[in-house]
Order: sequence, then C-alpha cells, then structure tokens
Amino acid sequence: MNISITKTTNPMQKPAPDAPLGFGKIPTDHMFIMNYTEGKGWHDARIIPYQNISLAPSAMVFHYGQEMFEGLKAYKGVDGKTRLFRPEMNAKRANASNERLCIPNLPEEDFVEAVKALVKVDEDWIPTTEGASLYIRPFIIATDEFLGVAPSKTYLFIIILSPSGAYYASGLAPVGIWIEDDYVRAVKGGIGYAKTGGNYAASLAAQVKAHDDGYSQVLWLDGVERKYIEEVGAMNIFFKIDGKIITPMLNGSILPGITRNSVINVCKSWGYEVEERKISVDELIDAQKSGKLEECFGTGTAAVISPVGKLRFKDDVMTINNNEIGPVSQKLYDTITGIQWGKCEDTFGWTVTL
Ligand SMILES: *Cc1c(COP(=O)(O)O)cnc(C)c1O
Repeated sequence: MNISITKTTNPMQKPAPDAPLGFGKIPTDHMFIMNYTEGKGWHDARIIPYQNISLAPSAMVFHYGQEMFEGLKAYKGVDGKTRLFRPEMNAKRANASNERLCIPNLPEEDFVEAVKALVKVDEDWIPTTEGASLYIRPFIIATDEFLGVAPSKTYLFIIILSPSGAYYASGLAPVGIWIEDDYVRAVKGGIGYAKTGGNYAASLAAQVKAHDDGYSQVLWLDGVERKYIEEVGAMNIFFKIDGKIITPMLNGSILPGITRNSVINVCKSWGYEVEERKISVDELIDAQKSGKLEECFGTGTAAVISPVGKLRFKDDVMTINNNEIGPVSQKLYDTITGIQWGKCEDTFGWTVTL
C-alpha cells in the first residue's frame, strides 16, 4: 500500500504533561483516510492534517448504521520505544465485523500498516505519564448518497488518534456492575460479535438506568432466556470460582475481546484451569452464597483489567472479595500492562515495536 503523507503546517498545542487527558477527547495533528469504490477497491491511502469530513445528508451511514470500528493503543515504553499490542488481532476482527455488515474486506496487512504509519507521524503525541497511552480508533463508514436499504458501494476507512489518561486515575479500583434483566444487547444470529455502532446504540438506555442507580456499567444477559451471562458494555467478563477461571464462551452474541484472549492465555500459562462455557446468574448467586465466588473482573483495551466489587441483580447486591481487588486481577493487570509498557519480557510475542 502506498500512503501519501501531507503534514500539518499548523500543529496543535499538545496537552501539558500534568493535564488530565480523559478518554478520547483530544485529537492529534493527523488522521489516516482511504476510499473504497466498487470495481476499484481500496484506494488513495493518505495521512493528512486532522480535519472535518464532508458527507451528504443522505450518506448511508447516517440512516442504516452500516459502519464498524476498532480500538487499540500505542504505548511509550519505559525504554522509550513505541509499542502496539497485538494489532493483527484488531485487523482480523475488523474483517469479521466487515463480513457481517457487508462492508468490503480490508487486507489485514494494510490495516496494520496504516495504524503504524499514522502513529509514527504523531509519535510525539503519545503521553508518557504513568498509565497514559495513545488511543487508536480505526473505523469504516458507508458513504453512498442513497436512502435505499442495500450495502453501500463506497466507503471511507479512517483512523484517528487521541492521547488518553490512565483509566483509573488513582490506581486500579473495583467497580459496581448492574446485571440488566430487562433490556438485551444482542442475540445469536444478530451483530453482537461485530464491533459496530448499532450494538452501542442498543446499550445506551440500560447504561443510563445503571448510572442513575450509581453503577458504572451494565452486565448483559443472553437475549433469549435472560439467564446466562454475556459481557459488560465494552468489556468481557471473568469470574474466579473455586480456584477456576471462568468466562462466557464466544457464542455469536459476545464481542471476542483481544484482552479476553490475552487473559485466557496468561492464566493458562500460570497453570490455572480456564473454562469458556455458559454461566448462569443462578450459578453465580450460588457460588457467592457458598463463598466460592473469589473474584470477578472485566477485560478490555481501555481499562485492561477492571475488578468488579459489586454485582447488582434485581433487588440483591453481591459483594465480591470485600469490594477489594483480588490477587489474580492485580497480577493480570501488572503482567499485561508490564508487557505493553515494556516493563516485563513479552514471552508471548504480543507487542509490535514501531
Ligand atoms: C471492544 C469491546 C470489548 C473489548 O475488546 P478488547 O479487544 O479487549 O478491547 C468487549 N466488548 C465489547 C462490546 C466491545 O466493543
């Protein structure tokens, strides 16, 4: 792929080293953009100054939501090197989403090359404060000017970047989670396994309800029986029950997280028995009552590991590990972030150095 690069002549002010970055609020100087046209394929890969894009009000993405996105990060290591974490997994997952949404396939090596090229151009934007990183958001939108329901014949693939702060400003802290028993996020046969805006639009009402009640995230149950645990809003979920690590199996309605896959591999390398299977809320409640529910944590690129201290289901609240961070959660966080920041040896070969 040939990427043309046009650098800005008017660089933006970078945030001060001690400024709170938040998440996804600050753009960097440049963006990657590439067009797709039926019959021609992907073309005109370019890195240009960060700017607004112009689309017709009838552009298909606005009406029927034909779009997909990805999320990964670039880390400035303790050795000064820039690392990406398993970017080829994002490229692969992007194509799984594309296939489900009738978006044309994007060669995986082009996806990774585009991410690397853009991060290289804006490398100075990677924050170096503890726990901070450069969030990378690749996405594809349908751009045909047409109000009919059909797959678009033209698309834009865009990558934007945003310096983002440590997810937990004051260190790893347990969160409270709302098990949603009314709304559902996805059903088997639907688009739950694709990373696409529609799944998030479907999740907002429950999220608002949970927030109003003081819970930070929603844990979804299966869309048919509302009995089995699926995942959290933007995280997969793990439990440690009676010494075993358990996570819902990928069943078509769960997003196959890259952090999820990494946690499974790390836990197995430590000798834990890891079960990917159906797990019901009833099983969870029983495990908690008998004192066997030892830990619970969410996994995702943003937080890496998010310990869960409280789980609400209907009128009951289960407190897990005294609402404190469990030893496995802490060790997983230290190990995976250690690999990402180059603090410990990457025995899995997961990082890509720029
Ligand atoms: C992105 C995402 C995750 C986490 O995936 P990672 O690759 O680990 O960041 C989990 N669930 C949903 C719904 C997501 O969109």
